[in-house]
Amino acid sequence: MKAEWNLKLLYASPKDPRIEKDVRKTELAYKAFAKKYRDTETYLKNEQALLRALQEYEALNDQTVPGSRAIDYFSFRHELNSFDTEAEAKVAQLSDRLTKAGNEIVFFTLKLGTIEKKQQGRFLKSRRLAPYRYFLKRIFLESRHQLTEKEEKILNLKSLPARALWIGGREKAENKRTVLFEGKDIPIAEALNLVQTLPVKRRRMLHKAAMGTLQEIGDFAESEINAVFTDKKINDELRGFKHPYSATILGYENDEKGIVNLAQTVTHDFKTSADFYALKKKILKLPHLEYADRSVGIGKVKQTFTFKESYQILREIFHSLGGEYSSILEHFVKEGQIDAFPKKGKSGGAYCANSYGLPTFVLLNHVNSFNSLMTFAHEMGHAIHTELSKSQRSLYQHYTMSVAETASTFFETAAFNTIFEKLSDAEKTIALHDRIQDDISTIYRQIAFFNFELELHLKIRKEGSVPKEKIAEMLNEHMKAYIGKSMKFMPEDGYFFVTVSHFRRPFYVYSYTYGQLISKALYEKFRADPSYMEKIKEFLRAGGSKSPEDIFGDIGINTKSPALFKEGLASVKKDIARLKKLTS
Ligand SMILES: [Zn+2]
Repeated sequence: MKAEWNLKLLYASPKDPRIEKDVRKTELAYKAFAKKYRDTETYLKNEQALLRALQEYEALNDQTVPGSRAIDYFSFRHELNSFDTEAEAKVAQLSDRLTKAGNEIVFFTLKLGTIEKKQQGRFLKSRRLAPYRYFLKRIFLESRHQLTEKEEKILNLKSLPARALWIGGREKAENKRTVLFEGKDIPIAEALNLVQTLPVKRRRMLHKAAMGTLQEIGDFAESEINAVFTDKKINDELRGFKHPYSATILGYENDEKGIVNLAQTVTHDFKTSADFYALKKKILKLPHLEYADRSVGIGKVKQTFTFKESYQILREIFHSLGGEYSSILEHFVKEGQIDAFPKKGKSGGAYCANSYGLPTFVLLNHVNSFNSLMTFAHEMGHAIHTELSKSQRSLYQHYTMSVAETASTFFETAAFNTIFEKLSDAEKTIALHDRIQDDISTIYRQIAFFNFELELHLKIRKEGSVPKEKIAEMLNEHMKAYIGKSMKFMPEDGYFFVTVSHFRRPFYVYSYTYGQLISKALYEKFRADPSYMEKIKEFLRAGGSKSPEDIFGDIGINTKSPALFKEGLASVKKDIARLKKLTS
């Protein structure tokens, strides 16, 4: 059993001579494709020519795997150790080379976007082109926001210094910091995780110390966030996106009206999350809550879950859902595709990294808590979704974010409910609280984040830039909006903005809410009829072959109806009422 990433799955060492060869291979593949298609336009008019061009374009995916392997290798090394400046430099250097190489073929999809409307309609109806229909549909839709080839190239090239390097710089500054607490230096990511495990006085002290540490890099984070948001503003203006969230929603293949409705539906229901925090204050017998208490449990679940135990638990649960799910988990642990524990210099949080044609890697910061176990289940949900989507043709293996969070939260819920049934009554109360808290974070908190991002984007657009004190204040206001009056906020709490990586991925947060509410619907159907798991497998195998609306529509879930989201919210309210009863 391996609990660390085995990057040898990619290369033997940073000096591996295969690395340069791989990058070269990818550069040449792009060049060859560009040479073949740059000066011809037959494929824009002729069905057979278009079919051939699309087939070759798709085959290019395989030829660019070597280049992605090289980038992945160094960026993973850097993820594990932010002090590895050599890896960091390599990522920048290789990204630059491969972006340039990729730029050589930008013309292809741009040109497809210029096909005139009537011809688009004919191609979309063509039976021969049917396997590429959804791909073409997306291109035609996105082409409305595309610029000329030259302009696209410039935007592509500037995204590294205007965005990625800023974010990287802030992460570096952050990961180097430790929090001095009770005479010990604790890496910041670990400290933030530790807060919720401590008794009230100590957790508030540690929280204050951690916020102080974040505040120390506030100046840099202020510049970073203003730069990144301004960069987005420039892009949006050039591309003609109306609202700050428009590009993300189009990119995630969702319907804008539906997502704005989702955000409003949840915002109008912030009373539910406020009710929960009022109840939590009462259960904890505190005169008021502070930000440090936000995700604390209401009692000690005696059980701790080491990484190994968590693995065994999840393996069993996944197996009950289907043998392929547990096999994937076993394979990941055997091969070293999961990096389990926090370390100084290692990135915080948890994620699943997948690149086409390469092994999928899961990063965790497991601290033996129930939450750690849930996070493990969540990230494995992503991994399973990735592995099953490999059954799609190469062009459709990549799934959109909003579908991604449905898969991850489904496995998380399945894990939760199985473990829940095995708990004592007292522990059930504690775990029910934890589940509601998690729902509140995934549904209401992410929409509060969405609202915060929207306000900040609009403010930077209007005023040019926003100072850190104001950003912190705004974040506090939005947190107040969903948490309610039972929590007392301190000015330093708002400096949480320094570390929330989601804000650097504009409006990404809505995908959590969307995913959680849909996965609730999936889970209810599965609970009512276990054979529905076959339908869920259809969704897990669908990759990005259809729009989210169609993927779910095909298995009986209507995402266009506001009723679906309201049902999900109603189930949270029901859980809160149950917790109220259990604790009164
Ligand atoms: Zn996720």
